[in-house]
Amino acid sequence: MVKRIAIFGSTGSIGRQTLEVIAAHPDKFTAEILTAYTNEKLLIEQALAFNPSVVVIADEKKYKTVKDALSDTMIKVFAGESALCEVALMDCYDLMLAAIVGYAGFKPTLNAIDTGKAVALANKETLVVAGDIVMQRAYEKRVPVIPVDSEHSAIFQCLVGEGRNKIEKIILTASGGPFLGKKPNFLVNVKRDHALQHPNWNMGAKITIDSATLMNKGLEVIEAHWLFGASAAQIEVVVHPQSIVHSLVEYADGSVLAQLGNPDMRTALAHALAWPDRVESGVAPLDLLAIGQLNFEAPDRQTFRCLDLAYQALAAGGTAPTTLNAANEVAVAAFLEGTLPFLAIAELIEATLDFLPATPAGDLEALVYADLTARREAQRIMQRSFC
Ligand code: NAD
Ligand code: MG
Repeated sequence: MVKRIAIFGSTGSIGRQTLEVIAAHPDKFTAEILTAYTNEKLLIEQALAFNPSVVVIADEKKYKTVKDALSDTMIKVFAGESALCEVALMDCYDLMLAAIVGYAGFKPTLNAIDTGKAVALANKETLVVAGDIVMQRAYEKRVPVIPVDSEHSAIFQCLVGEGRNKIEKIILTASGGPFLGKKPNFLVNVKRDHALQHPNWNMGAKITIDSATLMNKGLEVIEAHWLFGASAAQIEVVVHPQSIVHSLVEYADGSVLAQLGNPDMRTALAHALAWPDRVESGVAPLDLLAIGQLNFEAPDRQTFRCLDLAYQALAAGGTAPTTLNAANEVAVAAFLEGTLPFLAIAELIEATLDFLPATPAGDLEALVYADLTARREAQRIMQRSFC
């Protein structure tokens, strides 16, 4: 049976690589929904190549351009952020590849789950913002949430066949990003272009900055908590600069299972698209002899404070992870615009968390409100103290 895929965020790094895997298996997958924020040119190109049922351009100003370009096809064109939520409810697909970056991906993903669609989750912010609600709804709807994040894909694979065996520990590996080994006296001067040079992975701008601050690993700790039911104390972070061991799971008998592979997201994407089967991903085979050495070290938590801020938000619970995520999105956007220094990213997030103590998460509306409030306060604190 052909699996019909909806790629939310098809013009991004994950979206484009997903289309590569789909293109390699026309007998197994079709792309039925493609969405983009502002890149209408690439969206049109992808639509003409993959002939989906529906495309969405979130930026409404680009609607006419996309509509005109696809006027000779049967493809339905929608525009606006609300259209993202609406098309997520459609019947024309089986699995959503959730690859929008940030909070913007949260509501469409929840809608996919609510309509019983399987979700391949790249958008980790969804679980940081509302992990409890998302996983509860997935459980109620019997919807699989298949991780795409390479670490969580690794853990997912290390759990196969373990049934009720308790996890002792999850070990998340971190590349360390472009500033591994650097100290504050160096980081005080780093600019956007340097921070965007990730040593191992070619990713979108936001996650690349998150990797440079170690917030990416912090978000992944929270993501692992919700996906695998592990407590914060059970989740350890180890820096592994080669990014070959994607993560590990320790069991009671001392066995530690790991998943290895080249640092290429197409492995995790092929796994999530085909699960429970396996298909070729186009990734080169792992050559251990060429790699020679695998190194591991402790993260520098004093310099890269975002990691501990995420642990603290997870421990505080309630609205704290939502606040953490919102403040981080504000901070990273300002850093990318050149208005916030690199080291101020962690300071701004900490100040926002201090200003907005955690309250019980309650329902979806409470989390949406917490996100809005945290964005507003982070902006205000930034203007007052950091810019
Ligand atoms: P990206 O910036 O390359 O792409 C983001 C996509 O989301 C684009 O298609 C863009 O058009 C769309 N988008 C952005 N803002 C939007 C908005 N407000 N409304 C609607 N659409 C919007 O990002 P990416 O690197 O592909 O990452 C996507 C997600 O996957 C992130 O949550 C990231 O953390 C996660 N992830 C990425 C990688 C990777 O290797 N790139 C690995 C693991 C997890
Ligand atoms: Mg990851």
